[in-house]
Amino acid sequence: MRKFYALFAIVSVLGCSATAPVTPTLPSLKEKKVLIVWGGWNGHQPDKYAFLMEKWLKEEGAQVFVSNSLEIYSDSSFMQSLDLILPYWTMGTLSKEQSKGLLNAVKNGVGIAGCHGGFGDSFRSNTDYQYMVGGQFVSHPGGDSTAYTINMTDTNDQITEGVSDFEILSEQYYMLVDPNVRVLATTTFDGNHDAWIEGAIIPVAWKKNYDKGRVFYCSVGHNPATFEVPEVWTILTRGIKWASGSKGGELTTLVSPVYHK
Ligand SMILES: [Zn+2]
Repeated sequence: MRKFYALFAIVSVLGCSATAPVTPTLPSLKEKKVLIVWGGWNGHQPDKYAFLMEKWLKEEGAQVFVSNSLEIYSDSSFMQSLDLILPYWTMGTLSKEQSKGLLNAVKNGVGIAGCHGGFGDSFRSNTDYQYMVGGQFVSHPGGDSTAYTINMTDTNDQITEGVSDFEILSEQYYMLVDPNVRVLATTTFDGNHDAWIEGAIIPVAWKKNYDKGRVFYCSVGHNPATFEVPEVWTILTRGIKWASGSKGGELTTLVSPVYHK
């Protein structure tokens, strides 16, 4: 009888491991070297974003560096020593050296993650930077009091797993998006402000590779109130954790099948 139970237990364990959903855990931020760079257009209150992220990253056990100057990007050995970069810098200009330092770090495996105009509307004349981000803001019809829905397009991903579609009152970003990204969430424009875009589906969150570096973007994040929306906080912080595992992490092809052969 005892033998039977033992055999039953083994079969059960094997059975469970074969059928249980395989969701890899997100990388931990503990002891990761993270750089926050904030600045640019003040309307986005970049100092508040930096403060919020610094506090959370420290709670997660990360080693955090904060800079409100783009000059830090020119320090290539420091940049390459990082695990993760969290920029929040709307518009502005990168010098040639700063651009090279930032982009080479990501190419060599440093992760990068960010949101809204602080990552997706920076350095508008720098197409190399946009090639790394995977998209560029162009408009937000209706401004910051637009009520819109965010739809999850991939709930099997670690970043959006268990998150339901949700509504938000904020800027609805209309973006030009690189087809070579994996889209995690989208929004549909109703055309109330610009009739010709009615029904257009635009990505809200995506993940991608830039050579060896992991890149995560979320278009929500206009002001501190947007980070209090639980779904936004969940998606953003999970995306940051995913990007932090860039160095030594597995490189998978991250694309949207409709755009890729
Ligand atoms: Zn904004």
